[in-house]
Amino acid sequence: KPFRIRSCIQDVLERLESMISSQEATIKVEMPDEELSLNGDRFYWTQVLFNLVENALKQNPRKGLKVTIGCTRNDGGTTLWVSDDGIGIPSNDLPHIFRRFYRVEKHHSQEEIKGTGLGLSIVKRAIEAHGGSIRVTSIPGEDTRFTIEIPKDAEKLIGLETSPENHEQASA
Ligand code: ATP
Ligand code: MG
Repeated sequence: KPFRIRSCIQDVLERLESMISSQEATIKVEMPDEELSLNGDRFYWTQVLFNLVENALKQNPRKGLKVTIGCTRNDGGTTLWVSDDGIGIPSNDLPHIFRRFYRVEKHHSQEEIKGTGLGLSIVKRAIEAHGGSIRVTSIPGEDTRFTIEIPKDAEKLIGLETSPENHEQASA
């Protein structure tokens, strides 16, 4: 069933509150329409956004990171993005970043950052399983951006995914 994307983002920010405040990060939410909603499993989308925002903060432990979470809707569907102005992802690594266990080799001279390298692979598989797509671009220090596209048709699919009775309808 439909849920407000805004409330989903709010949950993510609450869960990351201590990281955000200790890093003095600035979070900007760009949403033309506060009512903007998605069809489907709210928990699932919260996890997806959590992973992306957590990555941005975790990879950039310095103070004053800027993170933008955005969302727009047009006739084709919904676009969500998470971007940051941190160290970014070297272009050599970009094609592999969604692979399981893949992590960028010791980001510059920073101390080791913890993680399994699974977050993005799970995010990608989940989005694709629901008919959506995710891509990444990176201009280090300026804009590292994960963009999710959810076509209109896929939204219906996601909606169907959530309840067993709808599964029956889907296979009928
Ligand atoms: P996990 O998510 O399982 O805790 P992880 O964060 O290391 O571990 P992924 O979320 O899959 O794994 O990310 C893979 C790698 O991509 C990260 O280790 C990091 O090197 C790089 N990365 C992801 N997001 C960013 C970002 N916003 N800025 C810079 N590097 C990033
Ligand atoms: Mg991660």
